[in-house]
Amino acid sequence: MQVQLERVLEQVLARNPGEREFHQAVTEVFESLGPVLERNPQYVDAAVLERLCEPERQIIFRVPWVDDTGQVRINRGFRVEFNSALGPFKGGLRFHPSVYLGIVKFLGFEQVFKNSLTGMPIGGGKGGSDFDPRGRSAGEVMRFCQSFMTELYRHIGEYTDVPAGDIGVGGREIGWLFGQYKRITNRYESGVITGKGVTWGGSLVRTEATGYGTVLFAERMLATRGLSFDGMRVTVSGSGNVAIHAIEKAQALGAHVVACSDSLGYVVDEAGIDLEILRQVREVERLPVAEYAARRSGAHYVASARVWQVDAQVALPCATQNELDENDAKRLVDAGLLAVAEGANMPTTPGAVALLQSAGVLYAPGKAANAGGVATSALEMQQNASRDAWSFEHTEERLAGIMARIHDNCAETAEEYGDPGNYVLGANIAGFTKVADAMLALGVV
Ligand code: GLU
Repeated sequence: MQVQLERVLEQVLARNPGEREFHQAVTEVFESLGPVLERNPQYVDAAVLERLCEPERQIIFRVPWVDDTGQVRINRGFRVEFNSALGPFKGGLRFHPSVYLGIVKFLGFEQVFKNSLTGMPIGGGKGGSDFDPRGRSAGEVMRFCQSFMTELYRHIGEYTDVPAGDIGVGGREIGWLFGQYKRITNRYESGVITGKGVTWGGSLVRTEATGYGTVLFAERMLATRGLSFDGMRVTVSGSGNVAIHAIEKAQALGAHVVACSDSLGYVVDEAGIDLEILRQVREVERLPVAEYAARRSGAHYVASARVWQVDAQVALPCATQNELDENDAKRLVDAGLLAVAEGANMPTTPGAVALLQSAGVLYAPGKAANAGGVATSALEMQQNASRDAWSFEHTEERLAGIMARIHDNCAETAEEYGDPGNYVLGANIAGFTKVADAMLALGVV
């Protein structure tokens, strides 16, 4: 890494102590940027890197609510408005006990580059809370969402900051959040949040988009080596919205998806995952994935272990950050792994990424591979702005076009910078350049 980059990185790490995931995300991007700064000294002169690493605004707030037993509970809420050079801040809300400022900042930082790669007019931000929805009744989650929005509403807006879902925040929670926003502001401002239900301003394909997009990206990446999903043995981590739709699209392309997981363990089903049962267990009944194995003959469950124990030709991490480490990568490579595409944000550790790349495995980083979700959010905003609703086919076509362009942009950028096939380099440089140029154009703001 260049001296200049190293100096800025050191400053960023020192200014944000203890934010491990944020450090990881920033370091990963900086490692790609040396050659860009050499060709473009204007970025250094305008302190673009320093500005990119400092969020435009960070909001931390108290979220008080009352549980079903009448006890008052307090959680911490966050919204980090990272960069609005390309459009209003855009990014999801995560409700999970692991959430703290370092997680929200890593997600927000990644979102800036991801959103830039989509080619859509959206800046980057992220938010959430350390609230744990697991084991909470629907009434408790609704009251929590209402309290969260009672503070958040003053900071967001269709031209300012547009939240959506992430881990722990799905269509149900988006409804409760939007309902409270509408009540407080007395405005039916559809474009203030995305991931809405299709009968009240949402977009078709938004639910499917992240998982579908990840598989479409992987399909195009496989094609660069004359490969396809047809007959490919695939494993997926997670069994939430992203994982389920990745499985669905991979199966539609002829893949043999044999395993998926949750935070407690994984299921193996050599006959191929039965999506109907998986959906019933995870989406309708909200039960652990172990229940899938109980209901499906021939499937078995392995507790307290990672799905990467199962051999695969294509691995799709669709659960959470740092869920595939160096040991997992080594095992998978030894067993014949050909490709990894990330449906989750930063699921592969830096050591594992290095190992995959040096083993010649095709590797698609999340900020490129899972950008279909937020891209379709931007399509939802577009429909809201024109008070229109597109068909499933049209919206999916738009998504497919966007994923193809992101893939090709990453691949061409990697080639231009002398490292063909390096999607990390391509994604970071292409994502960065667009934001950096907009920042230069907008002056020191
Ligand atoms: N949380 C998703 C992501 O990581 C989607 C964000 C959005 O649609 O705004 O990109």
